[in-house]
Amino acid sequence: MPIDIAAGLALSKNALDIVMAVRKAIREKKKLTDDEMRDYLDTLQDKLVDVKTALMEADEENRSLKGQLADAKRMADFCAAFTKGEGLYWHDSFPYCPTCWDTRRGPVRLGGPVDGDGGEYWLCPVHKVYHVTQQRY
Ligand SMILES: [Zn+2]
Repeated sequence: MPIDIAAGLALSKNALDIVMAVRKAIREKKKLTDDEMRDYLDTLQDKLVDVKTALMEADEENRSLKGQLADAKRMADFCAAFTKGEGLYWHDSFPYCPTCWDTRRGPVRLGGPVDGDGGEYWLCPVHKVYHVTQQRY
């Protein structure tokens, strides 16, 4: 189960509380036994391992989200460059499947063209549907 940043922060506070408890004991001249010191250090080590895990998971999630954001930005930029004509999206005079784009933001360039009756035939490699155009945009 992933530990989120809030849990990591809570664990950090717990670790700091342990350090402060040991400092307080030293300041008050309390003699800690070897077992007590070992227990404090074991607990501290466990907390720090959990904090490290939380930070690694947060870093991984952060990288993933940055990647998704970059993809979304690239798609938005690509979409902004589309022109429309004959029911298709066009980019650099090549058509893109409107179904692929409108349903899942997939910029699928149509294959072709093949000359045929009534214009150029373009094939969506995903849907296997031909689109016929009279001109390019
Ligand atoms: Zn398609």
